Amino acid sequence: MSADRHPAADRPLHPDTVAIRSGRSDDDTSLAPALFPSTTFKTPSVDEGRRMATDRGERRFYTRYGNPTVSAFEDAIAELEGAEAARAFSSGMGAISSVVFGLCDQGSHIVAQRQLYAGTQLLLQAHCPRFGIDVTFVDGTDPAAFAAAVVPGRTQLILAETPANPCLDIVDLDALGSIAGPVKVVDSTFAPPTIQQPLTHGIDLSLHSATKAIGGHNDATLGVVSGSNDLLAWLWNYAVLHGANAAPFDAMNGLRGLRTLGVRIERQSASAQCLAEMLESHPEVARVHYPGLLSHPQYDLAKRQMALPGGLITFDLRGGLEAGQRFVESVQVMQMATSLGGPETLVTHPATTTHVGLLPDELEATGIGPGTIRLSVGLEHVDDLLADAEHSLR
Ligand SMILES: *Cc1c(COP(=O)(O)O)cnc(C)c1O
Repeated sequence: MSADRHPAADRPLHPDTVAIRSGRSDDDTSLAPALFPSTTFKTPSVDEGRRMATDRGERRFYTRYGNPTVSAFEDAIAELEGAEAARAFSSGMGAISSVVFGLCDQGSHIVAQRQLYAGTQLLLQAHCPRFGIDVTFVDGTDPAAFAAAVVPGRTQLILAETPANPCLDIVDLDALGSIAGPVKVVDSTFAPPTIQQPLTHGIDLSLHSATKAIGGHNDATLGVVSGSNDLLAWLWNYAVLHGANAAPFDAMNGLRGLRTLGVRIERQSASAQCLAEMLESHPEVARVHYPGLLSHPQYDLAKRQMALPGGLITFDLRGGLEAGQRFVESVQVMQMATSLGGPETLVTHPATTTHVGLLPDELEATGIGPGTIRLSVGLEHVDDLLADAEHSLR
């Protein structure tokens, strides 16, 4: 798919504009996405049917293979990512598991970073070994660690996430993209495609839980992977059988979310910057992790590869477990719920929720303390959020 270009100047359109123009077919005059709930489409002839069943680009055969609404969402994401193709999935985990099991074989080796979404980590740690796939975990903040762990001829995938759960560590995309051999996959969920495009750094596959910022309204469970036609064709062969295909209704909401992604992430980043600065100067707060703060150890790297620092903040309260629990239970504008990237500002206390199964030393290794809070900044007025945070810290 050719990139949209500015009509009056020989330069590509800004990603915020692409997010609004992309994923529309030339013959559709409807501005809102058209919903095709149909599971199947009429086949005009036996010869056409044979072609429709095997062509990865086919949009009207059977919805597990392809669907016009889902394809429109995929086209939009591919254009934003600067990719040849994209495939949508029923969730971020649907995308990740299809990439892992679609591209690896028994005896394959994966290099993954230690700082990962808990679901991804569990998949790699508990399930890959069941299928004879070995995984080596490395520190994602060390640019040399990924390359050093590659076993030539055996390492099939390198899996990274940036910014990463839970402490917003940044992976150097240029360094990762320069490693030859394995397929380099980046989970870019915390930095949606209007602010970070991994493929422009030499990464092979960019992956999102579109349940989060891309969908943006907490009403669509959706995942998406973008990359070259060759890689996506390889992935497609497994993905149509894996069955984690995106539902047309969710893809429609994904497209709806994409139209406002640019302005939402701008607002969330601006509010997050204010909140992070307030938290950093507050006596009850021991430490703030936010890529837009000068105190973030990778501030310069984040600035180089992300147009904005995003809407997520992780911070540690001095008062430990009791303070952490009290904070999340006393917020009034913010709400206690898991997930991120939506209109509502959400707070979570990882030690008692998402990471409750970990042992104390495992918790410490992931950077989660008893007083750690994760904040996904939403779209409320920043003054209300600041007042709510200050009140809850008291
Ligand atoms: C939420 C999330 C996932 C999983 O996505 P689902 O849509 O919940 O399956 C994967 N990676 C990251 C970074 C996430 O935040």
